[in-house]
Amino acid sequence: MGRLDGRIAIITGAGSGQGAAEARLFAREGARVVVTDLDETAAGKVAGEIGDSALALHHDVSDEASWAAVVAETLRRFGRIDILVNSAGIYAQGRFQDTDAAMLDRFYRINVLGTFLGMRSVGDAMIRQGGGAIVNVSSGAALITFKNTFAYSASKWMVRGMGKLAAVDLAGDGIRVNTIFPGAIDTPMLAVNPPEYLETLRSMIPAGRLGTAEDVAEVALFLASDAASYLYGAEISVCGGAAA
Ligand code: NAD
Repeated sequence: MGRLDGRIAIITGAGSGQGAAEARLFAREGARVVVTDLDETAAGKVAGEIGDSALALHHDVSDEASWAAVVAETLRRFGRIDILVNSAGIYAQGRFQDTDAAMLDRFYRINVLGTFLGMRSVGDAMIRQGGGAIVNVSSGAALITFKNTFAYSASKWMVRGMGKLAAVDLAGDGIRVNTIFPGAIDTPMLAVNPPEYLETLRSMIPAGRLGTAEDVAEVALFLASDAASYLYGAEISVCGGAAA
């Protein structure tokens, strides 16, 4: 018996990193997974590796029409949506004085609006079904403050707030909204940092190593599964102790 037998899961940003690890793990646990990403070639590759239980879709999480298309196709193919993992996101460093309105807007549109549109877009189907599980992905940068990450960190603070607010509004509909706070996780996103900054990050981790996409996927699986049936608005830091 898998922990997600018969469940239908949409995972955004699943062409890479944590989202891809979640798609693989959820499928191994019995779910059918909708692997979505702006990079449709990457999404297709992950879905191809998983096999028949995966469907790859092109998706821009910042675009409401794109969400409508993903939800419609998921319902057409599978008839329901039990799980949404909002893993898609972007990252860049940037000092406050170098952050302009266009940069802040870009982070807002993908990290914040993308997460909001995800919750909003699956909400009606989950309410009709009598419930569901939504896992949002914030960041350790919304638990402790990092210099020179203004637009990214501000967007992740908003993801943190939205997770709690949506959780209390949707709890009565049987929808559980919970949030993961990854620390420094060894994915292509982290690799854009200069080596000396990566060393600084590494030195802040009591566990002595970077996290893996699989470390995060296990926590997403727990939150998406019935094992987390009484978790609403919870915040779990997956950071090797860095934010402890
Ligand atoms: P990643 O770069 O490997 O994966 C992110 C994926 O999101 C990519 O496949 C990318 O194509 C996709 N994406 C970007 N913009 C998109 C859009 N508009 N629509 C749809 N897809 C889009 O990074 P990751 O480490 O797997 O990141 C997953 C989540 O974890 C992100 O929200 C990130 O902010 C968060 N996070 C990562 C770390 C880390 O150290 N890697 C730390 C804290 C938080």
